[in-house]
Amino acid sequence: MRIDIITLFPEMCEAFLNESIIGRARKKGVVEFVCHQLRDYAFDKHKRVDDTTYGGGMGMLMKAEPIALCFEALCHVLGKRPHLIYMSPKGKTLTQQRVRELAEMENIAVLCGHYEGVDQRVLDEYVDEEISIGDYVLTGGELPALVLADAVSRMIPEVLSDDVCFEEESHYSGLLEYPQYTKPYEWRGRTVPDVLMSGHHANIDKWRRLRSLEETARLRPDLLERADLTDKERQYIAEYLKKLP
Ligand code: SAM
Repeated sequence: MRIDIITLFPEMCEAFLNESIIGRARKKGVVEFVCHQLRDYAFDKHKRVDDTTYGGGMGMLMKAEPIALCFEALCHVLGKRPHLIYMSPKGKTLTQQRVRELAEMENIAVLCGHYEGVDQRVLDEYVDEEISIGDYVLTGGELPALVLADAVSRMIPEVLSDDVCFEEESHYSGLLEYPQYTKPYEWRGRTVPDVLMSGHHANIDKWRRLRSLEETARLRPDLLERADLTDKERQYIAEYLKKLP
């Protein structure tokens, strides 16, 4: 898969994309990231990428033409039009479900806004989808684009090592993950639950499922409505919630 990021701050993106799990996947060539400097596409005499807003108001807006030229150049290089996402607080909130769908695509391009955002006309012309990472406003789209790139990349086979199973992680199945423990067995007077030391895999699986139901009921009850649960599990949750203070 290839992810293109269109930004005024490519160095900010590169710094993240070269580190840790994502950096290793990039080096291995499992996922390709290309960051495009929008300023390289500002061809007016002042090489401006932003300007004041029509109708008045504070702040600057990113101009349409450099974005259009950058995206058109990208389409030319790829020989096709990638799915273009504009990171925006007005977009649909990113979910694990959408992340999984995006990871199926061969190419996505991500546009990062800055200042007050982007001239609406270029969004209307080229953007396929607007995605938000939450109901709050950041100074720019780089962190949201990197959140998206990270979440999508780790769904691609070979990005995570074999021993990391994302199918058991929070949100994949609609539930939150069970609590986990590592060495030492005893830490500041707190020990690891006995079942995890038993080596009895069926009991461990059952314990994990129940803790997963409890974590979700306690921390994100809103997720339970859409989760795939048996009647017995729903009843278990109802009993568990009754016992909570
Ligand atoms: N004026 C815009 C509004 O009220 O919707 C906010 C612009 S924001 C200061 C600048 C840029 O940061 C946006 O164009 C977008 O690319 C990015 N951004 C900010 N918050 C975001 C969020 N929650 N999710 C995704 N992108 C965000």
